[in-house]
Order: sequence, then structure tokens, then C-alpha cells
Amino acid sequence: NPVLRQELQYSLLPEFLLEKEYSNIPFAAKTLVRLSANENPWGPSEKTKQALIGAIGDSNRYAFKLRGELVKAIAEKEGVPENYILLGAGSSELLTASLVAYGQKGKIIVGDPCYISGNEERVPMEKVALTKDYQYDLDAIAGKINGSQSLVYVTNPNNPIGAVLPSESFSAFIDKVSDKITVLSDEAYIDYAKDPKTASMIPAVKAGKNVLVLRTMSKLYAFAGLRCGYAIAKPEILKMIQPYCSGGFDMSVPSFAAAIAAFKDTEFQQLTLKNTEESKQYLYSFLTKAGYTYIPSSANFVIFPLKMKGSDMLAKMAAEGVMLRKWEFDRQHWCRVSIGTMDEMKAFAEAFTKVIS
Ligand code: PMP
Repeated sequence: NPVLRQELQYSLLPEFLLEKEYSNIPFAAKTLVRLSANENPWGPSEKTKQALIGAIGDSNRYAFKLRGELVKAIAEKEGVPENYILLGAGSSELLTASLVAYGQKGKIIVGDPCYISGNEERVPMEKVALTKDYQYDLDAIAGKINGSQSLVYVTNPNNPIGAVLPSESFSAFIDKVSDKITVLSDEAYIDYAKDPKTASMIPAVKAGKNVLVLRTMSKLYAFAGLRCGYAIAKPEILKMIQPYCSGGFDMSVPSFAAAIAAFKDTEFQQLTLKNTEESKQYLYSFLTKAGYTYIPSSANFVIFPLKMKGSDMLAKMAAEGVMLRKWEFDRQHWCRVSIGTMDEMKAFAEAFTKVIS
């Protein structure tokens, strides 16, 4: 369904969302502090840049060889066979394809709120509220499954909440439901979890379950503008979503070369994690001092309840040159702040102090 795909793509890409949210808001002329799309402010790494420059001379060629090398690198990293991997131009491409493929077979169960819960007009969705402490309610989700749904979409860690699901309960949920329905574990932020290997549902894929794991390089690897994502699932599942992907012409020669280099660049990955933690702790203590609560996050963003309307906060912070995301759930207005550099966090703190005083 090409029309559905087009519309979905439009609604899922963060830039378009932002454009919509910010269409009537004038920005300060001063430097923009971009804390709205959960990007990595420390990248691209030097090794990524070198790989990009090194690949420019081959950009007249199709990327067959590099595609094979990247798939091999992912297979080794994740411990899965190569035919369990499907690449995409970021995980948005794979997510959109999955929603279109599964949306034709039944409803998609989503947490409310979650990354895609605003897309109900485009995808047949059934929303299931989070628990009182904003966790996925896996029992409630399992209780809803009745044959009219085709997919359960779980963001782990959850965007916008930042919470990671305990792997024992997520695995037990999968054991209970995955013979009736496919479970999509969107692991865009899994690299920021304390123990990503334990939190990930790749072991369930390896155990033959109906599980589709999506990963992106946009976050820890600083690839948001380079575009690389991958799906991990058994071949029957990948075959279902492949027809709605771009048919192998997703990534460019430079982005393939950069992705291969970025996976090896553990130094940059460690630096990102260390810097993220430092900035996050700063943000936590600023919010506490300012009299605000927050939800502790296992991702590169933090969400906290506002004491004003989300739209007012966006406009006032934009006037200070700071770009953020607003959410509304549980009858409250919330602000989601991406983790930036210490300078960016200080700029946020300074602007927010001004806006609330
Ligand atoms: N899933 C989630 C939960 C996200 O937050 C995002 C982007 N912010 C994506 C998928 C898509 O990321 P990308 O297309 O850059 O890989």
C-alpha cells in the first residue's frame, strides 16, 4: 500500500513531527540548542568521518560489497545468522514497513504513550495504557490479544518514558503470546540501558519466537543523518516486511563504510555513554533543585511533568533558542529533553529557569 507507506513515513520521521510542532513558533536568532530528536551531540566520531571521506571515491558504484561486509559485521556483533538481518535507511524505514505489512493483517497493539501512539489515524491501533508508574502493562496487553491484532509494538527502552522492561517479564510475556501474535521490540535506545545484552530480545529471536527486533545506529553511533538501521528476526518475518522496504537501495556507499567503521569504534561508544551519564546527572539535579520531578531514564532523554501547557513551554523555550518535545498523557503536560553536551544542558537549565520564573 504505497499511499499508506508515504503517509506513515511522513508522520514518523522526527523532523516532520518537529516541523509541525514548531510551524507557528518563532525561534530566537541565537544558536539553536537542539534537544528534541534524541540525537548524539558528540558525533560523528573521527573514525566515522575518516571512513566517510575514504568512501567518497567509490560513490559512483552500487554498494553490493559493502552491504555484505556490514551484514557480516552485524551478524558477528549480534550473534545471529546473516539471513536473520534486514538493513534499512535508519530503523524508520523498517518500522514503517513493519507497520504497513502487519497493519494489513490486523491491529497493532501499542503502549499509550509510545513513539508511534500518535499515528492512530494511519495505522489500525489498539492502545493499552501504561501502569500507574508508567511501565508497559504486559498483563493488560496479553489480556487484549483476541485474534484481531497482528503485532504488539514495544519500545524498549520506551520512548518517551525512558524505562527499560525487566528482561524476565518481557521474555515471559513473549513466551506466553508469541504463538498468537508477533512482538516487535524497538530497541532504538537499548545501547543506553545498563545491560543491553540482557535487556535485548535478540535471544528470543534466536530461540525461534515470533519476535522482530529493530535497532538503529542513530543514537549511540551518532548516525541520525547518515541513516542505518537493521531488523533482526527469522527469515519468514523479514520476508513479510521486505516488500515495503526500498529494495536494497537504502544506504549509500559512504554510510555503509561509516557504519562498518562505527561498529568497531568502541572508544567513541564508551565516550558517548560516559558523557550521556554526566549530562543526565546534571539534568536530574537541576530539575530537582528547580522543584520538578522526572522519570529516571535508561535512554538518552529524560521526561518530566510540566507546570504549564506543553505548547507554552515549547514557544517560550524556542524564544530562548532551545528546541524540545512536548507530550500529553495521564492528564498532564510533559517535556522530553534529549541529553546534550554539558554546555547544552546548562543552556537548557538557564533558559528553563528564566521561563518558569
Ligand atoms: N524508534 C524509536 C523508538 C525512535 O525514537 C526513533 C527515532 N527517534 C526511531 C525508531 C527511528 O530512528 P531512525 O530512523 O533514525 O533509525
